[in-house]
Amino acid sequence: MPIRCLLVMACLLAVSSRLEAADKEAGIKDRFEVVETKLTPIAKTLDKPGPHDWLANHREAGQTFAQYVQAKPVLKSERLKTMHLCLIGDFTPDQDRVLKLTMEYLGLVYTVPVKVHRRLSLDKIPDEARRTHPTWGDKQILSTYVLDRVLALERPEDALAYLAFTASDLWPGEKWNFVFGQANLRERLGVWSIYRNGDPSKDADAFRLCLRRTLATAAHETGHILTIQHCTAFQCGMNGSNNRVESDSQPLHFCPVCLHKVCWNLRVEPVEYLTSLEKFCRREMLNDEADWYRDAVELLQK
Ligand SMILES: [Zn+2]
Ligand SMILES: [Zn+2]
Repeated sequence: MPIRCLLVMACLLAVSSRLEAADKEAGIKDRFEVVETKLTPIAKTLDKPGPHDWLANHREAGQTFAQYVQAKPVLKSERLKTMHLCLIGDFTPDQDRVLKLTMEYLGLVYTVPVKVHRRLSLDKIPDEARRTHPTWGDKQILSTYVLDRVLALERPEDALAYLAFTASDLWPGEKWNFVFGQANLRERLGVWSIYRNGDPSKDADAFRLCLRRTLATAAHETGHILTIQHCTAFQCGMNGSNNRVESDSQPLHFCPVCLHKVCWNLRVEPVEYLTSLEKFCRREMLNDEADWYRDAVELLQK
């Protein structure tokens, strides 16, 4: 099953998002262009996709910065300034560590406070929105129930995004085995599971792998909520992904084109912003990522 495909379908809806500030920006040469021009030398070109990879199976043209601005993206603003989470079900202590680090990371990537708005126990999910997978035996929650019957009814006023996280498996409806996550971009809602990200309690490497996967999904899908489409410019955290091997091979960081969009959207000072991400990655021993941010900061300071 292709991962993220529901999210991708939903991302097409985001073009209809309308926020006034982007109008003023359209066509104006912006002060964040330097992020794209100065960092392009350390961007890695995309490898030719294998037969089962995303770009071999989906025709995607990518999205330039100009196209991003034209899409009237969802913007961080005085009105939309917080990321809210709904935590569904229980988490083991190690899953809870992954969750807390993901909250910290989302706060750094999108420069907003990340708050737990609500905790929902699994027994509050009605029977018709739960199942045991008929072949595999995994206990699952219906992702559309979470989006439409939980998140949509209670999204806080100031939510740049309202995201549900769960350690339970998800399925999106008939004919599907499972889904890693699903989003309603127009409504700035998403639900993601860490069920298939590996067992973080196994050992230190497994913890780091689970953490990396969870960070990657959280940053990627929130990028879609901010109207960033799949990237075809370079190797990038916003590349589409068709399978676990492909998604594990992709970088956590965003490429210069997508960083340009993010910095412009959030109005962040790029050196300070990228330094904060380098520090997080270094502390969590995500050293390849930390090195990329270090190189990026050096280039911007030249
Ligand atoms: Zn995606
Ligand atoms: Zn990119």
